[in-house]
Amino acid sequence: MTHNPVEKTPVTLLGLGGMGTALARAWLAAGHPLTVWNRTPARAAALAAEGAHVAHSAAEAVAANTLVVVCLLDDASVGEVLTGTDLADRDVVNLTTGTPAQARARAAWALDRGARYLDGGIMAVPGMIGVPEAGGYVFYSGSPELFERHRTTLGVPAGTTYVGEDAGFAALHDVALLSAMYGMFAGAAHAFALVRREDIDPVAFAPLLADWLVAMAPAVHQTADHLRTGDYTTDVASPLAMQVAGTPTFLSTAAEQGVSPELLSPYFALMRRRLAEGGGDEDLTGVVDLLVR
Ligand code: NDP
Repeated sequence: MTHNPVEKTPVTLLGLGGMGTALARAWLAAGHPLTVWNRTPARAAALAAEGAHVAHSAAEAVAANTLVVVCLLDDASVGEVLTGTDLADRDVVNLTTGTPAQARARAAWALDRGARYLDGGIMAVPGMIGVPEAGGYVFYSGSPELFERHRTTLGVPAGTTYVGEDAGFAALHDVALLSAMYGMFAGAAHAFALVRREDIDPVAFAPLLADWLVAMAPAVHQTADHLRTGDYTTDVASPLAMQVAGTPTFLSTAAEQGVSPELLSPYFALMRRRLAEGGGDEDLTGVVDLLVR
């Protein structure tokens, strides 16, 4: 009986940094023919031994396959590398982190050169690539046809989440989620600082902190409902007026513990502004509107 293996889409990958190398290994492990190129050729040597074809130039790598994945340092390096290549009729998938405006400009730039374009924002670190249970995924935006065509191949290194035809949306989702993460890290830093000088083991404190953050995270769903309806007073459990009344306790505790309030104070200032504008019966959704200039 003859075996008829499903043809795996050949992939070209430009950029073999920490992330690019992880992507390369995932496609190789899944049996995709892979052509790679990196500015510093030495980084390709191990992958060559694992079965990748190493191109001598970016132009040669782009010419090798229709699907061209780019994972370089930043948008400037993408421009530098792709400028010397022929992008006509290529399916360019750019996984390089950038701003939404950079993604939109890069999409128009690629289209001008005859390519189709999809932008990506990687929500994973290299160790999560090729490890489905790690939960990493990539936001994609841009050509819906391109996403559908390569969905299976793109799903090999990590999950795929398509967020719209606007090429800037993947970057916007990426940065929005990471911005929220920094807010969470800022809160955690303040919490650790409060207990830092006491006889409290940070290792015992950490699970309490993590569990609390997880318990509070679903509050974003109510924020979303409020933003959608425009009524910020529905099902409010902790009115802004009550929360603002409590802020001196937080600031006094910080002072007692010798901790700078510099991470908390800007948020409290926004809460007070919203209260002064008459938002006392709302929860914290009104802060969103204060930030949108
Ligand atoms: P690295 O710093 O490890 O690698 C950078 C890559 O870009 C290398 O291949 C480097 O080539 C290349 N490069 C830089 N400048 C130029 C240039 N001017 N011309 C040609 N090539 C250039 O970064 P990562 O691989 O970790 O990250 C790649 C992308 O993935 C980034 O946009 C990053 O934000 C994103 N990302 C990374 C994550 C991570 O945890 N690592 C997580 C999520 C996204 P050379 O080897 O020659 O220096």
